[in-house]
Amino acid sequence: MPTISAGPEIERLIQLLARLPGLGPRSARRAALFLIKKRELLMAPLAAALQTAIEKIAVCRICGNIDTQNPCTLCTDPRRDDSAIVVVADVADLWALERAHAINARYHVLGGILSPLDGIGPDDLSIAALIKRASDPAVKEVILALSATVEGQSTAHYITDLLHDADVRVTRLAHGVPVGGELDYLDEGTLAAAIRSRTPF
Ligand code: ZN
Repeated sequence: MPTISAGPEIERLIQLLARLPGLGPRSARRAALFLIKKRELLMAPLAAALQTAIEKIAVCRICGNIDTQNPCTLCTDPRRDDSAIVVVADVADLWALERAHAINARYHVLGGILSPLDGIGPDDLSIAALIKRASDPAVKEVILALSATVEGQSTAHYITDLLHDADVRVTRLAHGVPVGGELDYLDEGTLAAAIRSRTPF
């Protein structure tokens, strides 16, 4: 990154910001300047929030969610349905489903998906823990909320095979026409999947 005419502390701030996803050197400089201008209003509260996060944030020992309590809020919530576990690749997917108020069940975060090319095998993911959780008699359904990519689907197949002897129904997300989507804008793969997973009207 080209150096700027500022003190090393400010350069360090810019370099760290530039490591955030979606921020390149230029946006990082803009963000740093914005923070510096809003020292009292934004920078100090942000620094305090980061410090609190460092002290309190933990990975849930049951589901792998990130929270300030362990087990996490979702695992300890008595109003959640114990009979279904929604399996996601990452915490971001869990948060997306929660934002959508999609389902009131429990979750399990794999921590990635199987990817032989990247050297990510079953032991690198939280799969054994999932199979153990699914053997609990209270669990009736495992919902595989994984991406519709080759890796996502092969991870789904792998888990489905392991759950073969467990007394659970294994389901996956429907693939198809997005809500509000127009047919002639869809790619062929999505359209073909939508026809294959058609439902009674
Ligand atoms: Zn949890």
